[in-house]
Amino acid sequence: MKAWTVNQPATIDARPLALTELPVPKPSEDEVLLRVHACGICRTDLHVVEGDLPVRRSPLVPGHQIVGRVAAIGSRVNDFAIGDRVGVAWLNRTCGVCACCRAGRENLCERAMFTGWTVDGGYAEFASAPAAFTYRLPDGFDDIQAAPLLCAGIIGYRCLRLTRISESKWKGARLGLYGFGAAGHVCIQVARSRGAEVYVCTRDRERHQALAHELGATWVGDATDEPPARLDASIIFAPAGELVPVALKAIRKGGTLVLGGIHMSPIPSFDYSLIYGERVIRSVANNTRADGREFLAEAARIPVRTHTQMFSFDQANEALLALKQDAIRGAAVLLVSEA
Ligand SMILES: [Zn+2]
Ligand SMILES: [Zn+2]
Repeated sequence: MKAWTVNQPATIDARPLALTELPVPKPSEDEVLLRVHACGICRTDLHVVEGDLPVRRSPLVPGHQIVGRVAAIGSRVNDFAIGDRVGVAWLNRTCGVCACCRAGRENLCERAMFTGWTVDGGYAEFASAPAAFTYRLPDGFDDIQAAPLLCAGIIGYRCLRLTRISESKWKGARLGLYGFGAAGHVCIQVARSRGAEVYVCTRDRERHQALAHELGATWVGDATDEPPARLDASIIFAPAGELVPVALKAIRKGGTLVLGGIHMSPIPSFDYSLIYGERVIRSVANNTRADGREFLAEAARIPVRTHTQMFSFDQANEALLALKQDAIRGAAVLLVSEA
């Protein structure tokens, strides 16, 4: 099969992904094999390819928002059949026995495996994944629309949960979003359907700010502008630590600031008054399978509409470069093969 691999992380300008010929993976007894149709492109892929995340496998096939059809199943898999349309996300496998797994916090599992980082992912014609960590996809989304739901969507959903705004309090709640790429443009749709006012701070005037207006933001400003109202909670999707004090300044007493990325540049020191008043800062790490299933159901109900920019399979390096340059409107998706 054809696959993109990273052998040595390097800045994306040096085109570190190489198109390679690899054997089609053999699914083990608890796995399914997917013929990949589309793979969403996530900022985490950029962190993997550029070496912001440590190398855990080399060479590696990146990509963790995989949409495809089941092409083969392991001997112990009985909940999927050949031809089923499925999705594979970042959390690839957990141990099931550590303290976190037993406490329902499998996203924090000490021995978790991750798609497109510790195991091969979806920038390839085929990919295998444990059946227990494979999602059925709602019919309302075609393959391209569904791909960004699998990380950008699920992580944004978990961020909303970690704002500590309870279900009954969303109506009229004021939510800030910093950065408005793949995750932000899905997150705003979920928050608005729950009745929240959304304030978007993002630096890209043409693409991101225009899309935020289009998706019903109450107010849109530059990354460091101060929103016109105190916010109940904010989520920072941009990997920019300097936004932490900026975002804290806009949050009301007792409010929560959620950091939605897997990697962030250093956070500058700031005055204690910015966090005093029982404000909370917390990061988000990965997701549980329950997050994934609940989000996909809510996304289908709303329904969420993903804005995608498609790249052909031979453009993997170009797609990541465009992402780095903030040149994507919505979410980038690699079209691997026709359905
Ligand atoms: Zn575990
Ligand atoms: Zn991701």
